[in-house]
Amino acid sequence: MPTARSATAIEAVNLGKTYGRGGKAVRALDGVSFAVPTGVVFGLLGPNGAGKSTTVRILSTLSRPDSGTASVAGVDVRREPARVRRAIGYVSQKPAFDPMATGRENLVLSGRVYGLSRHDARERARGLLTRFGLGDAADRLAGTWSGGMQRKLDVAMGLVHRPRVLFLDEPTTGLDPEARADLWAEIDRLAAGDGLTVLLTTHYLEEADRLAARLVIVDAGSVVAEGSPEQLKNELRGDSVQVELAGGDADGAGHRARHAVGAVPGVADVTVEGGVLRARVGNGAAALPGVLAALDAAGVEPAAITMARPSLDDVYLRHAGRAFREADRAEGVLV
Ligand code: ADP
Ligand code: MG
Repeated sequence: MPTARSATAIEAVNLGKTYGRGGKAVRALDGVSFAVPTGVVFGLLGPNGAGKSTTVRILSTLSRPDSGTASVAGVDVRREPARVRRAIGYVSQKPAFDPMATGRENLVLSGRVYGLSRHDARERARGLLTRFGLGDAADRLAGTWSGGMQRKLDVAMGLVHRPRVLFLDEPTTGLDPEARADLWAEIDRLAAGDGLTVLLTTHYLEEADRLAARLVIVDAGSVVAEGSPEQLKNELRGDSVQVELAGGDADGAGHRARHAVGAVPGVADVTVEGGVLRARVGNGAAALPGVLAALDAAGVEPAAITMARPSLDDVYLRHAGRAFREADRAEGVLV
């Protein structure tokens, strides 16, 4: 392993992966490339089915790509998977802890699996339990813990062997807002305080916005945008306008609204989904009268209008051509 820390902790180059074959083949990754600087939280943001878990599984050597190359902590994942495994922690989307063991037992066992002596594993478990505020519950069965505590336990188990790179696959899915905020603070601390590189996948726009110093947005197996959340939002000049149509999409109202608003000067990227029209305008306040007049002329009544600075949702919309939540829903996964 290189002794000096290089500036790039993870590099993926043109990763391709197809599951199954023939008519049932699923192209999960279609040439995914990105580079993760050392010591930051890097986000892999995308709707369900985008290829996030597949990417993480390849980078953590649990799966092999059909094409492309990748290195983690300076080591090629295909050529030296064992060395990669020693350098990384992997926290899967599904829980990995044993519910019939205590929190402490889970951590000690992880430590032993990673080759720590019994004594070192106990010490490390103690340290991590304290670090994550799990000390009081340490000797209760993990199956009885709250969802937030269980997720923290999974993260702690990924850290027993002091990895340089930590993969977190959708760490906060299913958590209530309070537990999510709590875990966000922990993840922040990992990169800021401990200098770890964290690759985090999420389908929560807010989570990527809040945690990631840099991110890629993946959609249908491809990277559609890359940068810091701020950069990506700043690339979209102007404001985003959202109009809820009073009658929804009934009687072709959505179609008429889209055409009418699309013809207003200074308005771009008009879409209508689920009775909601969204558009980008150079200057929200200046464009509003024209938008309202166009809707009126088209016989479409607005129920509510919101104007906002661009969000990551707008970034996604610009690059993938449909709203993020619609893409998530299209995958048929309840979140
Ligand atoms: P994400 O984590 O972003 O939700 P995944 O990487 O899990 O996406 O999946 C990407 C695509 O590959 C999806 O269409 C999914 O249904 C498919 N897929 C994932 N794993 C398998 C598998 N083991 N066999 C067949 N298809 C799979
Ligand atoms: Mg996944």
